[in-house]
Amino acid sequence: MAKFRTAAEVTRFAPSPTGYLHIGHAYSALKAYRARGPGGSFLLRIEDIDPGRCRDEFVEAICEDLRWLGLGWEEPVRRQSEHMDDYLRAAATLERGGLVYPCFCTRSDIRLEIERSGQAPHGPEGPIYPGICRGLSSAERTAAFADGRPYARRLDVVRATATAGPLAWHDLGRGDVAARPERFGDVVLARKDVPTSYHLSVVVDDHLQGVTLVTRGEDLAPLTDVHRLLQALLDYEPPEYLHHRLITDPGGRRLAKRDRAMTIRSLRMSGHTPSDVIAMTGLEI
Ligand code: GLU
Repeated sequence: MAKFRTAAEVTRFAPSPTGYLHIGHAYSALKAYRARGPGGSFLLRIEDIDPGRCRDEFVEAICEDLRWLGLGWEEPVRRQSEHMDDYLRAAATLERGGLVYPCFCTRSDIRLEIERSGQAPHGPEGPIYPGICRGLSSAERTAAFADGRPYARRLDVVRATATAGPLAWHDLGRGDVAARPERFGDVVLARKDVPTSYHLSVVVDDHLQGVTLVTRGEDLAPLTDVHRLLQALLDYEPPEYLHHRLITDPGGRRLAKRDRAMTIRSLRMSGHTPSDVIAMTGLEI
């Protein structure tokens, strides 16, 4: 069980700077901080690949709020937006293995195809990509490139799982979990506007930063199947995982960045102490 582990771990808290941290983030950061164990290290990573949604002022606020809570991290802080070359290299490795294809679809192309086929397979996150661009001929691809059509890069999950073989990941709470990444279909590895995606950058960064124990909310547990597949394809040693419960509001709804009253900042402004905030997460002080 997690609480009896005494190993030195490298853990991380990896928020996206799209708003102020709330009680749920405090819980997640504390879990990662405490899970590092004696002699371990706690890293802070800023997941800011989305230029439209991420803001520098939130990066500063995240650092300030974590410091106020008493959490210190190893420098340097890794900002994903500064490491696109690392993601490009990883994508190129997968591409050389013939596991990636360009996808020229717009959102409406995908929606129309799903409506047309009338029986789109659903994954844990909704309908999965119907594979429109997977079967393009090389002449069709060449023509689309020549027309300058923007494209994303998708993982061919059938080929990828065939290459990797059966996989599992280990969670300190759940034990060994068999990975079924095919449920998510051909996920995007590089978006049209940024040469990476959440899946690719999280896997590359956890590897490059030497993270040994990934602690994060249980909403992300299903996606670990995809991450485990990418680790296998990229020949990375997989970390262990600890997916924790999510903090909800009194109505049982998951907290979101828009719930302003529950931000660490507003609690601090209204006179709460760090110990009060820790107690509100349900963790021991
Ligand atoms: N950046 C993600 C978030 O803010 C967390 C990703 C992860 O921990 O793997 O929800």
